[in-house]
Amino acid sequence: MQLKIYNSLSGEKEIFKPILEGNVGMYVCGPTVYSNVHLGNVRTFLSFDFIYRSLTHLGYKVRYVRNITDAGHLTDDGDVNNDRFVKQTRLEKLEPMEIVQKYTVDFHKVLEMFNLLPPNIEPTATGHIVEQIELTQKLIERGFAYESNGSVYFDVLEYNRRGLNYGELSKRNIEELFANTRDLDGQGEKKNPQDFALWKKASPAHIMRWNSPWGEGFPGWHLECTAMSTKYLGETFDIHGGGMDLKFPHHECEIAQGKACNDAAPVNYWMHANMLTMNSQRMSKSTGNYILPMQLVTGENDFFEKPFHPSIVRFCFLQAHYRSVLDISNDAMLASEKGFIRLMEAMKVLHSVTPNDEKQSSFNLEEWKNKAYDALTDDFNSPVLIAHLFEAVKYIFALNDGKETISTKDLEDLKSTLNALIFDVLGLQTIEENNNEKLDQTLKVLIELRNQARKSKNFELSDQIRDRLLAEGIELKDGRDGTTYVLN
Ligand code: AMP
Ligand code: ZN
Repeated sequence: MQLKIYNSLSGEKEIFKPILEGNVGMYVCGPTVYSNVHLGNVRTFLSFDFIYRSLTHLGYKVRYVRNITDAGHLTDDGDVNNDRFVKQTRLEKLEPMEIVQKYTVDFHKVLEMFNLLPPNIEPTATGHIVEQIELTQKLIERGFAYESNGSVYFDVLEYNRRGLNYGELSKRNIEELFANTRDLDGQGEKKNPQDFALWKKASPAHIMRWNSPWGEGFPGWHLECTAMSTKYLGETFDIHGGGMDLKFPHHECEIAQGKACNDAAPVNYWMHANMLTMNSQRMSKSTGNYILPMQLVTGENDFFEKPFHPSIVRFCFLQAHYRSVLDISNDAMLASEKGFIRLMEAMKVLHSVTPNDEKQSSFNLEEWKNKAYDALTDDFNSPVLIAHLFEAVKYIFALNDGKETISTKDLEDLKSTLNALIFDVLGLQTIEENNNEKLDQTLKVLIELRNQARKSKNFELSDQIRDRLLAEGIELKDGRDGTTYVLN
């Protein structure tokens, strides 16, 4: 079985060859923890969770690193005063690290809710300032960076003069970049507008600041990922992932930093997950076109007609390939809910299927398994994989109706394959039965038993039921219409 991965760098599906056989080093850009993650962010992290689970299931030993961006960096327009952390600290009247802690906790809670596995290493930018300063020094020593007025910039034109190719990932050429760059950041400091900051001098208003050989400042955003990925995965590693929007400039700059530092491309396979849209527009905090994960799960929003369980959201996301745009809508969620319920129903039914070793089945299990794994290894094609799961679902219902047959061996095989694909690889979870409903039914049974005890004049037992429930905080109230209960 050969795993094929679409490499954004080559623009082609390539056969995956890890650097060290059987092992995978994977780095995924993490969140900027200055506010709550929106559902769009969740889609990207979920795409890579599915990829991580798939690689592990296929037998690779994966070291999965996903960082936390917690050091203030510049926004796209390059204005230091627009630093998202600085803005948020003012707004919430909190210390920068309080903001970081608050939203890191929220991020973890949200991902746990959607059953994402934690990465093996989750390094923070503020925990790797020393490494970032060292990298900056190395880039200056190698002639790829220069200091200017307390800031340090990467010299993009020098990089190209040496035959390296800035723009290779985003397929932009240097002239194009020159024409399109607005020189707001580092005006008068940069040699060329394309140059990007490795280290920025901190203005008096900037709270997050560190000492460096160039005075007090803070690192550039692109540098943290180079520092942390090389520290934990090596100068060249297997897979680097992130959302499509990070291709340029973030990942382009990472390639340049890596090549300039180590004379080698930092990443063998670049993977980019596509965007979640709502109302056919990219979900984003800045435009206001977004929904928070919790709002979808609790139903507290104006967009969806009802709440949706996190597993259904997960299922909906996986019904689209990670490289396709997914437009989330009420209809899409309702359709996913229907599909999810049918899939889970089939899994329940499967447990009561009786095998028959006499009759021949028309369902070729081996062939079906091959097709499912072909989809998984074809650039992690989750929608095709799910379509194959539904072929199995059809077969299971036919088995249940006695219209199909299965041998003992195949039944075991089908069960374990489906369990692995549905729960381990897709990471779906069954929806627990409603606990409140269960409690209500249990109490009704106890009330009925108490009534029977009273009828047969067994007052000792009927009082015992009432008192024991009261001790648990459940009060029984006898009225004209029968007995009800109150939870205290
Ligand atoms: P940020 O915290 O802004 O760095 O974003 C975290 C991750 O979410 C990045 O990988 C982004 O590419 C990704 N992202 C942002 N918006 C969307 C969206 N609408 N759909 C999918 N991924 C997104
Ligand atoms: Zn990054």
